[in-house]
Amino acid sequence: MILLTGPQLLDRILEAVDESGWQALILDSQKPYWLRLYRSDDKGFDVRIYIWNCTHGGGDARSEDEYRVQITGVVPRAESGITTLLLGWHSGYEVFVGFDIRKHEGQKTSSPSIQVKEETLQNAHQNAFAIYHRQSREIAVAFRPEFLVEYALNAAALHLTGQAATDMSLLNNLSDLTHDQIAAVKSKDRQIILSQIFRKYRAADFQKRVLGAYRHRCAICGVQLELIDAAHIIPVAAHGSTDETKNGIALCKLHHTAFDRNLLSFDERYKVEVSDSEVARLTAVNHSAGLKEFKETLRTTIILPSDRRDYPLPQYITESRKIRNWLA
Ligand SMILES: [Zn+2]
Repeated sequence: MILLTGPQLLDRILEAVDESGWQALILDSQKPYWLRLYRSDDKGFDVRIYIWNCTHGGGDARSEDEYRVQITGVVPRAESGITTLLLGWHSGYEVFVGFDIRKHEGQKTSSPSIQVKEETLQNAHQNAFAIYHRQSREIAVAFRPEFLVEYALNAAALHLTGQAATDMSLLNNLSDLTHDQIAAVKSKDRQIILSQIFRKYRAADFQKRVLGAYRHRCAICGVQLELIDAAHIIPVAAHGSTDETKNGIALCKLHHTAFDRNLLSFDERYKVEVSDSEVARLTAVNHSAGLKEFKETLRTTIILPSDRRDYPLPQYITESRKIRNWLA
């Protein structure tokens, strides 16, 4: 198994922040790493991260299915007012595992280690999240990289034991989770956290399927460059919107905005169209520069997925145009 160096672990964290849809400023690149996580319209929050590789126990005394995070070099310390994470990274399963910093801070015995069951890592790899009760009455939380920010935002609540842990264990089954199950949770705070992570799970799942179906290319212009969004055809806020792949299309940032603004669209036979009425409006207000070049990059028909079942459903296109007030 690959063991990452400190700088590589920091890179993995930065990649995970990106996969979470956030951005990071590095305020300190020495362990504990100190990052400011933010989004375009959001000042964000600071987080300090202790992280080590999660490795197989080794030695005869260790059981086969046990992995561990060995704390070396620095002594973990939770700073007041700053979210502090204690993480392991497992390269094989490509998951992080988070431990309760309050239970491990100030551990001074020479390189203490924290154990985690292989099953937990495996479950997180398959189901996005895995909540695990350690024998020491501590909750370990394993999760896929795209959930790093959601984990950081809710780490304190996710590591609570007792009823909180029972409630949060709903996250072990994200693929089959329902809104009714979340509504049945007594604590409103925990309902909010569960909904937030569930929403993120569904969005990440939709994005993965749609980008995969279009091979990470914009259906309108063919660009990749990791500038591609998974857009909903019937807008996500509209009644009747679904997360089916056939209600999605991969669009670059430019064409996503153009689609949402009704500057362009595609019809039920997948022909790309530019709105004459929108062009007339832009011309009238002297905002039509670059129109010729814009039109030149458009394909005549959209790029379609290789699997027919993933093609945009014509009735969704019809419905979408009605909801978006598309005018040719
Ligand atoms: Zn494009």
